Amino acid sequence: MNPQIIIIAEQNGGEITPVTYELITGARILQKYTDGNIKIIMTGYKLSDTARQLSKKSGLDILVINTERRANPEQIIPDEIIPDEIIFKNLPAALLNDLNSAYVCMAHNTNGLDVAPGLATKINADCITGVEKIIRTNDGVCFTRSVFNDKITTQIISSAKTTVLTIQPGIFKPDTVFAKTTGKISTISLPLFTNNYQLMGFKDNKADTAALNSADIIVSAGNGIREKEDLDFIYQLAQLFPKSAVTGSRPICDKKWLKYSQQVGVTGATVKPKLYIACGISGSSQHINGMRDSKFIISINTDPHAAIFNISDVCIIEALTTFIPEFINTYQESALKKISD
Ligand SMILES: Cc1cc2nc3c(=O)[nH]c(=O)nc-3n(C[C@H](O)[C@H](O)[C@H](O)COP(=O)(O)OP(=O)(O)OC[C@H]3O[C@@H](n4cnc5c(N)ncnc54)[C@H](O)[C@@H]3O)c2cc1C
Repeated sequence: MNPQIIIIAEQNGGEITPVTYELITGARILQKYTDGNIKIIMTGYKLSDTARQLSKKSGLDILVINTERRANPEQIIPDEIIPDEIIFKNLPAALLNDLNSAYVCMAHNTNGLDVAPGLATKINADCITGVEKIIRTNDGVCFTRSVFNDKITTQIISSAKTTVLTIQPGIFKPDTVFAKTTGKISTISLPLFTNNYQLMGFKDNKADTAALNSADIIVSAGNGIREKEDLDFIYQLAQLFPKSAVTGSRPICDKKWLKYSQQVGVTGATVKPKLYIACGISGSSQHINGMRDSKFIISINTDPHAAIFNISDVCIIEALTTFIPEFINTYQESALKKISD
């Protein structure tokens, strides 16, 4: 069997998540460089329609895993209450070895980061997280990822037989065209003896991000805001513009200075406003993933080497507490002057 490129698909309530289609694009790049076959693995409780839809759209073969979780041989815990991450973390090494997996690709998000390291250790694979680019070099397939708060880019080549990859969401654009042929679906049942977990239930994230999606201008607050009171600068700046909204990076939401429904990034909202003003935001890949498609980006940061400047149209190297009041004054004065003229 040719070495295979395995994609760990994500679904939410039977809906394939967009990141799965991005993983397919990443896997197709790997396929060009390695000649491997691509296979998708997904967990399968009541998901035959979902698997059919994915095989039709992607044209790829899918292996659906049905599980029985047993706390002990007598007690079967129903399949539907096992989260996918737990199933993937407990995949038997033999399964991935039998599939002759050269690469196992999953999303660089909370689920993928939960699964990838343990799975890599289990199957004696290399693990490269946060992949942003895949290229071919004379030394082999090379993966690019950012380190040190995204200030430095590293290139990594794996020499292991199998490499587990987590791929940054938002990097590889999903194919919008349906495949010409439909992939084959096969199903296996695996008993999982995992009594280490007790699922307490699911909490749906019903964050209302509608206001963010309809905003033309977003002013976003980052950890460069040292005092909660300084958030006023952000609100005052946003108030200058009609159809504006205020968002923030994760640390600001973790401090509860903004709601999680206002968090932009890989574990928050994805926004594409006409103008995104990043105030005191360093530009971690997790944040950039949620705003990189904004039409125009202005960043205010005291650090001239902040990674956010790499994707900004206008870079303002200044303390936000100095720049924003100055800007608001100048803006209001020129607006008043226009009226009196
Ligand atoms: C699995 C996972 C998921 C994540 N999901 C998200 C997510 O969805 N969204 C998200 O945002 N993060 C997310 N993160 C966190 C992310 O890795 C970063 O830690 C976070 O984005 C950093 O936020 P920041 O840029 O505001 O803060 P910092 O990285 O601390 O940057 C603060 C910046 O402010 C600048 N600064 C300091 N003082 C001033 C001043 N007076 N004026 C102007 N600039 C100043 C500094 O130079 C610095 O660049 C996630 C992390 C993980 C591991």
